[in-house]
Amino acid sequence: MHGLMMETPLLISSLMRFADANYPNREIVSVTVDNPDQRYTYREAFARTRKLANALNRLGIKAGDRVGTLAWNDHRHFELYYALSGSGIVCHTINPRLYPEQVAYIVNHAEDRYLFVDPLVMPLVEALAKGFKGVEGIVVMTDEAHMPASKLPNVICYETLIADESDEFDWPEFDERTASTLCYTSGTTGNPKGVLYSHRSVVLHAYAGCLPDVLAFSGHDCVLMVVPMFHVNGWGIPYAAAMVGAKIVMPGPKMADGETLHALIEKETVTVASGVPTIWLELLSYLEKNGKAIDSVSRVSVGGAACPRSIIEDFDKKHGVTVHQGWGMTETSPLGTVFKIKPDMGELSQEECYELQAKQGCGVFGIEMRITDDNNQPLPWDGVAFGTLKVRGPWVASNYFRLEDAGSPLDKDGWFDTGDVATIDPNGVMQITDRTKDVIKSGGEWISSIDLENAAVDHPDVAEAAVIGRYHPKWTERPLLIVVTKDGQEIAKDEMLAWFDGRVATWWKPNDVAFVDELPHTATGKINKLALREQFAEYQFPDA
Ligand code: ADP
Repeated sequence: MHGLMMETPLLISSLMRFADANYPNREIVSVTVDNPDQRYTYREAFARTRKLANALNRLGIKAGDRVGTLAWNDHRHFELYYALSGSGIVCHTINPRLYPEQVAYIVNHAEDRYLFVDPLVMPLVEALAKGFKGVEGIVVMTDEAHMPASKLPNVICYETLIADESDEFDWPEFDERTASTLCYTSGTTGNPKGVLYSHRSVVLHAYAGCLPDVLAFSGHDCVLMVVPMFHVNGWGIPYAAAMVGAKIVMPGPKMADGETLHALIEKETVTVASGVPTIWLELLSYLEKNGKAIDSVSRVSVGGAACPRSIIEDFDKKHGVTVHQGWGMTETSPLGTVFKIKPDMGELSQEECYELQAKQGCGVFGIEMRITDDNNQPLPWDGVAFGTLKVRGPWVASNYFRLEDAGSPLDKDGWFDTGDVATIDPNGVMQITDRTKDVIKSGGEWISSIDLENAAVDHPDVAEAAVIGRYHPKWTERPLLIVVTKDGQEIAKDEMLAWFDGRVATWWKPNDVAFVDELPHTATGKINKLALREQFAEYQFPDA
């Protein structure tokens, strides 16, 4: 017997209609090339979104078509998120920092019909345009006064495109499983793969994001969105904020600029901010050097890579800000886990709290987790056993875009293998120990490169650290530590290695350390271990 409730579909346009009606005066503030202080209200944002929807219609873009964006976080990107998906068109966000060949591959693989491009990204598009197979036009996200010169055919100015359109548009109603957004994984191995989100998955994910023990967004919040909108739907924040009427602040191309972030926080009274660890290192260092504070901020969400404990402690001790670490991936929309203190954790000292906050956290309702051994058998949640982390839920990918014929990436029980290795403790707190391909196997036992890296960056003179496994004749593999020091300071090899004494199991201690000027990074800011392994391919341990 079915229930007798309405089957109203969960659509992205319903978020927009709701915010428009209920939070008309909440502000959206952004930094753009043409205006460092662009501000308007939700009501104005959605009026322009309807003009944009009419313009898309006039361009002949149909439901199901893909339209690419190559842009930073600003109000026009926000309008695109809603106008494209709301019309049934797939909003395909592309990371402008990917290798140019990857950008071209992604645009062609997705068969993007139009690209919406930030003026600063135009040089990349100019260089690649010849290789774009199906792109009919480029819309530059600025006004006429700031249009860059271009020899490309059919280059359109965003403001001109929408200027004469009506701000009335009836958002179509369709099946909630309709594709809404497309985001490619950065593809450190092989070609990037497209994760195709649906209206249903996006709306459910936004609900989960607002829960008090997840991102805890409320209408009283002012959210600084530092996580790029091309990185897994901006972690779903453009949707979650609209769901509760939070004020949104977007730093445009100034995402990694401590001074801009601090100025925005002060001026807009930001209460909560989200981003990857490197951004917070940048901000904390700016605050320290300039004696600045961020009094309005109460919490910061950190994810995308393991959050070093030093970030957690600095935020708390120097600024009274609580760090909420989360784990997720492109394939999980991205919310998978978020750390929270639970009542049954008992009385915790500050030290114990920091220890726990450095873990990746507890499952968010909607995501089921398990860890499995080599035979796909579930392992206990005892905080000790570690194995492959698998997940399932309504916002986890079931396949990749246009790779459906290559078979299902899920295991026979319908679980998605995250490629991460983790432990889960009896309270359900998950801790990533490694990516499957980065695990170091010494004498048959696993060593966590992440634990070693976290311990290394706690050293006051270490700016960044990576650990990779290298061949060792006795142990097969042993950890090699690679370090970038702060401001080019020197650390003696012995001193660096002795730093691990008492911090990790004796047999985990790296056998050697190499000092380098910089580490290679992927387009999403993660340390590129593949490149590091190539760089150190010929390396031999001194004791080998
Ligand atoms: P890509 O895999 O394309 O670099 P993703 O953003 O999808 O981009 O990366 C997801 C991966 O990032 C996860 O599988 C995990 O290895 C890592 N990751 C994400 N959040 C955390 C975290 N809080 N701690 C440790 N690793 C994390």
